[in-house]
Amino acid sequence: MDYKKYITLVNDWPKEGIEFKDITTLMDNGKAFKSAVDEIVTYADQLNIDLVVGPEARGFIIGCPVSYALEVGFAPVRKEGKLPREVIKVDYGLEYGKDILTIHKDAIKPGQRVLITDDLLATGGTIEATINLVEQLGGIVAGCAFLIELSYLHGREKLQGYDVLTLMEY
Ligand code: 5GP
Repeated sequence: MDYKKYITLVNDWPKEGIEFKDITTLMDNGKAFKSAVDEIVTYADQLNIDLVVGPEARGFIIGCPVSYALEVGFAPVRKEGKLPREVIKVDYGLEYGKDILTIHKDAIKPGQRVLITDDLLATGGTIEATINLVEQLGGIVAGCAFLIELSYLHGREKLQGYDVLTLMEY
């Protein structure tokens, strides 16, 4: 499917000079959204996934329907101060700013095979931090799936040695 026609390009958001790829217009279209989720499920089917992990907030939008279809759990990665129980943390840089990501300490059992999902791969800071959290807990990153890759930001360079699926490239 040509998913790009469902993505809205928004100039100068959230900052001047950024062209934001808005995925809500893809989510609005039931057939396009289902097709994108199904492609990720098909990819994950051969990876023997035990758990899906996604960073807030758009990683949840992709990851939850995938985990439902695979009949495995979903563990959220959230900004500091959002998860209610004991967490581990990592500092990370993103396309526009810096932050801390956290995951519940008991979210992953050592040896579990994890699929990480997010809407978009830009500089790779968010996925690198999420991989760090999964691996700190002894999880195995079996694959990473995104709707969109901004190849001009070279995020894939941070993912060498990992299995990666992206459905659209800019
Ligand atoms: P990175 O950490 O790879 O630089 O940035 C990726 C993260 O920022 C993802 O979690 C993604 O949701 C968000 N992000 C950055 N730029 C965009 C964009 O243009 N569109 C969308 N939908 N998300 C973006």
